[in-house]
Amino acid sequence: MEYDHILIRYGEMALKGKNRKKFIIQLQNNLKNKLVEFPGVKVKRTQGRMFVLLNGYEPEQVMQKCKNVFGIQSLSLAIKVSNDSNEIKEAALWALNNSSQVQTFKISVKRIDKEFPIRSQEMNQVLGRHLLTNTDGYTVDVHHPDLEIKVEIRTEATYLTSSVVNGLGGLPVGTSGKSLLLLSGGIDSPVAGFLAMKRGVQIEAIHFHSPPFTSERAKQKVLDLAEKLTVYGNAVKVHVVPFTKLQQHIFRTMPDGYAMTIMRRMMFRISEKICEQESILSMTTGESLGQVASQTMESMNAINEVTNIPIIRPLIAMDKDDIIKVSRNIDTYDISIRPYEDCCTIFVPKSPKTRPGREKINQFESQEDFTSLVDEAVTGTEVIKLTGKPEKEDEFSDLF
Ligand code: ATP
Ligand code: MG
Repeated sequence: MEYDHILIRYGEMALKGKNRKKFIIQLQNNLKNKLVEFPGVKVKRTQGRMFVLLNGYEPEQVMQKCKNVFGIQSLSLAIKVSNDSNEIKEAALWALNNSSQVQTFKISVKRIDKEFPIRSQEMNQVLGRHLLTNTDGYTVDVHHPDLEIKVEIRTEATYLTSSVVNGLGGLPVGTSGKSLLLLSGGIDSPVAGFLAMKRGVQIEAIHFHSPPFTSERAKQKVLDLAEKLTVYGNAVKVHVVPFTKLQQHIFRTMPDGYAMTIMRRMMFRISEKICEQESILSMTTGESLGQVASQTMESMNAINEVTNIPIIRPLIAMDKDDIIKVSRNIDTYDISIRPYEDCCTIFVPKSPKTRPGREKINQFESQEDFTSLVDEAVTGTEVIKLTGKPEKEDEFSDLF
């Protein structure tokens, strides 16, 4: 006997009607997508639950993949048997014998199939007695057991589970449309992307790259960050925008204190054009109120003026410590702290205005023709698709 299924529980309480159906189908598709590298593994729906049929694969390996899919409340390894009380007894005994560090246990039977002749309460006793007679040293503890063996007797079969692993919660990626994530090489924006994905948003990323001031390795760092995000969703398309010419022009012609804000406005203008091209309805940034000069209320107001597209700022109310915690959990922190420069750290003005006025900015911008430089940057954008599937050799590995 062995664990041959993974039982997936999803929190559907808040979802009704059409949304609920969409949620369930998307979750099933996302799971299937994550598991393509295990041929023969199947994802099945039954009432209120999903089952992954392991088809002989190592349970832990498949579990690891499922754990990173948004929309799952909890997961358990499960054994599937037919609705035959002898088979159920045998499976319960196996589950107890295959657990470690257990002295006390409890059986919880849920009889969903009312055709099954033994009632839940009675079946609890039948199974408990069977385990006590056929093992040594265990006792039953209904309040605080070391192991709870759950038995779900369904119409099609009976499933036994013991330990429960927490899922990530949230909504399945793809149920809330698409957003363009402004992805720098920093700590914040990948976390922002992760949190948007948690609400069901599918991400495309855009990165502003300023060679030769920012190196190939700085670009690779961003691609590595985007690759990490694919773990929690599907493929991620990365738009790499050649930003050097525009950025140099800004810093040459605009007053020092305003250059940073104007640069941000250009980023939003370019991002908006990419959104239009890709039919994306929102942008996501890693901005967090008060963190740096460009993130005061006044700068955000001035930056935001150039676009009507909704901007999702998942980190707006988070403390840096909490942001760092998430980045460690999702494994982006070590990539983010690699020392390569990004375009914003290179052209930092000596004294950026923390309260840039809109009128002045508009006046300065109108003195130069930025439209053609913006268009040129959009046209020159390189698109890289990260599939999240096992990959080729790191092309820079020989340089280390
Ligand atoms: P992060 O840690 O994400 O780099 P930050 O704390 O450095 O953020 P800023 O430099 O003010 O803050 O950037 C604010 C946001 O602007 C970033 O979170 C990101 O969404 C976007 N951004 C900044 N630089 C770039 C870039 N080169 N390419 C794409 N987006 C960028
Ligand atoms: Mg940054």
